[in-house]
Amino acid sequence: MPDKYVFFYGAGKADGRADMKNLLGGKGANLAEMTNLGLPVPAGFTISTEVCTYYYKNEDSYPEGLEKSVQGALRNVEEVMQAKFGDKENPLLVSVRSGARASMPGMMDTVLNLGLNDQTIEGLIKKTNNPRFGYDCYRRFVNMYGDVVLGLRPQSIDDTDPFEEILEKKKEKRGITFDTELTTEDLKELVAEYKDAILKRTGHPFPEDPMEQLWGAVGAVFGSWMNERAKVYRKLNNIPEEWGTAVNVQSMVYGNMGEDSGTGVAFTRDPATGDKELYGEFLMNAQGEDVVAGIRTPMKIEKLKEMKPDIYNQFEEFSRKLERHYRDMQDMEFTIQEGRLWMLQTRAGKRTGFAAFRIAVDMVEEGLIRKEEALLRVEPDQLNQLLRPIFDIEQKRKFINDGRLLAKGLNAGPGAASGKVVFNAPDAVEWKAKGEKVILVRIETSPEDIKGMDAAEGILTARGGMTSHAALVARQMGKVCVAGAGDIQISYKQRQFNVNNKVVKEGDWISIDGTTGEVMEGQLDSKPSEVLQVVIDKTLNPEKSKTYHTYQQIMKWADEYRRMKVRTNADQPDQAETAIAFGAQGIGLCRTEHMFFGGERIDAVREMIVADDSNGRRKALAKLLPMQKEDFIGIFKAMGDRPVTIRTLDPPLHEFLPHTDEDLDKLAKKLGITSEKLKARVEALHEFNPMLGHRGCRLGIAYPEITEMQAQAILEAACEVKKAGVDVKPEIMIPLISHVNELREQERLVRNVAKEVFGKYGIEINYLVGTMIEIPRAAVTADEVAKVAEFFSFGTNDLTQTTFGMSRDDSGTFLPFYVEQDILPRDPFQAIDRDGVGKLMEWGVERGRKARADLKVGICGEHGGEPSSVEFCDSINLDYVSCSPFRVPIARLAAAQAVLRKKKEK
Ligand code: PEP
Ligand code: MG
Repeated sequence: MPDKYVFFYGAGKADGRADMKNLLGGKGANLAEMTNLGLPVPAGFTISTEVCTYYYKNEDSYPEGLEKSVQGALRNVEEVMQAKFGDKENPLLVSVRSGARASMPGMMDTVLNLGLNDQTIEGLIKKTNNPRFGYDCYRRFVNMYGDVVLGLRPQSIDDTDPFEEILEKKKEKRGITFDTELTTEDLKELVAEYKDAILKRTGHPFPEDPMEQLWGAVGAVFGSWMNERAKVYRKLNNIPEEWGTAVNVQSMVYGNMGEDSGTGVAFTRDPATGDKELYGEFLMNAQGEDVVAGIRTPMKIEKLKEMKPDIYNQFEEFSRKLERHYRDMQDMEFTIQEGRLWMLQTRAGKRTGFAAFRIAVDMVEEGLIRKEEALLRVEPDQLNQLLRPIFDIEQKRKFINDGRLLAKGLNAGPGAASGKVVFNAPDAVEWKAKGEKVILVRIETSPEDIKGMDAAEGILTARGGMTSHAALVARQMGKVCVAGAGDIQISYKQRQFNVNNKVVKEGDWISIDGTTGEVMEGQLDSKPSEVLQVVIDKTLNPEKSKTYHTYQQIMKWADEYRRMKVRTNADQPDQAETAIAFGAQGIGLCRTEHMFFGGERIDAVREMIVADDSNGRRKALAKLLPMQKEDFIGIFKAMGDRPVTIRTLDPPLHEFLPHTDEDLDKLAKKLGITSEKLKARVEALHEFNPMLGHRGCRLGIAYPEITEMQAQAILEAACEVKKAGVDVKPEIMIPLISHVNELREQERLVRNVAKEVFGKYGIEINYLVGTMIEIPRAAVTADEVAKVAEFFSFGTNDLTQTTFGMSRDDSGTFLPFYVEQDILPRDPFQAIDRDGVGKLMEWGVERGRKARADLKVGICGEHGGEPSSVEFCDSINLDYVSCSPFRVPIARLAAAQAVLRKKKEK
């Protein structure tokens, strides 16, 4: 058993320290530290978390010797504060509060003004010369004690609070509205009435003995560790039950003792922007709860400078001292009692992502912390707050309070967008052309919708997960997207959607927050990103933007530490350019299917698909060749000497075909065949399970001419760009193989085409042929596969789908439930499932490199831009991650953090 349970602090000396959080809780440890720093902290003591653990292990009892230690500590407090607990002349009053290792705001219990009874009240009145103040404290205490310790509180939502009821009756009887209008006599009567209620309800009188009061409150605080609220909060925030809470007993100071008293809270820097200036609020002649309750409007802290310059200067000095000492932004509470400043709490302040980055960078530049520390203090995903437009926080809060939140879906594409609702892609394009801002609302999207998605400000879908078509295309385009908002019911026919008894029609304004997944009705204002204005639009001078400076520093430092390279998933030159501006070092995945939808090409694609034989297909492919070549030229030019991985055709062919009778007839006419023939062909292409059907390399194997055309387009483009002086580095990637023979077959085709093309152009190009690993069999036989493949790229969207046997497009109906019920810790399409999918990857890397030592390995599934997955990729030694352009900075930072965390562990 430890020999110390109680830790005293006061008069410049404390038994505890800041690094004793596990034992003293955050609050207790920081009160001790502030005392040691010489700051004015009302004396008190902390009963350690070990007592809490003991309490629960031993049927709500305390360890031996605790009582004596508490008495000893109380004597010390009396000495420092020059008052006596329970004394009727000069009483010491205390607060009793919880304080766990991690902050659990408002989850556990607190009792204030403890030590008051019918005798000590006289002393308090004499000391303060203020009877009204005295009785106000007293009635608040009896109320709080009755509630927290004796359990007199509403038992169900229909019950009224017993104390509230008495108070309301009193006000009614007196014909007044506000508590402040109660006279001393009223308050005195309230004390007596409260006590009566306690006796009646519990059968016991209110305890007048201050020592009994103290133990009652200590027990209640320990007991509150196991209340429902606290349990739920712990589960949500992964706080272990074994930690327990400490109990802080501290002398009371009062901010409501007249016009030279007051109370407030302040941050050492602005928690929203990170600006280096005190940010806070205070109220004169008030208690902490008045500030929180919002009954009176608090004043800005700068006002204190005018009103009480001495106190303000002192507080400013303390806050500087605390920040320098903790080397982090602090959130402080203070009270002024009759012109004297007391510090009641300090802790690391919560902040927006925006402020987090700003503060981290500023603190390095101020010499307060090192670069490594700055990089580890920020959350990569919060970079979105610097990169994307965001809604005005206040306005959004108001919208939600006004009941305008319609639904919540997955936060598939971060950022803020508002626009008028349209329900199909052609409308989106048309409305945009007329100068309207639109949000494209679809049950789910398909490649056909690409142009509409591009025209829209944002995309909202009712179905689909984080790797659904809408989600990954939106991220690649940098579009705001909320996917899988299951509550909305869309009727394309009626051009409206229903949600929670509301109807939203075509043309109505909605606002979607792709960072949180919220869908709101109406038009919310958003703020553009300064980083984008500098990096992409080039409309803002970098020197003029503090935000850009912050971004740029973090990125520079991240690049100094990371080992992995970061590439991008892009299939258009403009996407490639965006990604380069964000620091991409290559393309990790160019999906060629999206190119098939541009301009006139879809006709040629359809002609190819419905052709009867190889000759017919070749004829159509010949039309496509020059167009594909143009695409690749654009991409190679944009990427310069960076590697570019291009994937041969992957999706099931029916995705390219028209679906309505009207469109089928139109196509038949264009192709010069009968509608019947076309319909029969489309019918023949129908598959029950297209994701596991005729797609991926299976297309190129059945129709070799497709792979040949694509290889020719890629390599001819490469030769032409190389002739223009660019050192192109093409990498041709075969998708969805499960057996090495599939790859061998496709590789042979590519190499043959290469020979021909190089002969024709009279130059040679260094190019690679590799494969995606997206089927478990390919991972398991990686040593065989690597004999042919020069590189691997993990397609973790499909690898997750095939490993779990869960459709990536249909999992939206059950996966959220799985996560909610803890059946799965996270959505595996968002963050890599390390134990399953991750094991296959690990095996694949190891086996692959055994067969081919210089095998290049990366990832191009959506996980490549998700921070925890990026860390995993570093741990299994991937060479690079590839992600959508806007996630490139996030991946750069996450890759640096992976290295720094590993270093820290060692
Ligand atoms: C994958 O499966 O992870 C992948 C990148 O390919 P796609 O998402 O295009 O199937
Ligand atoms: Mg795939």
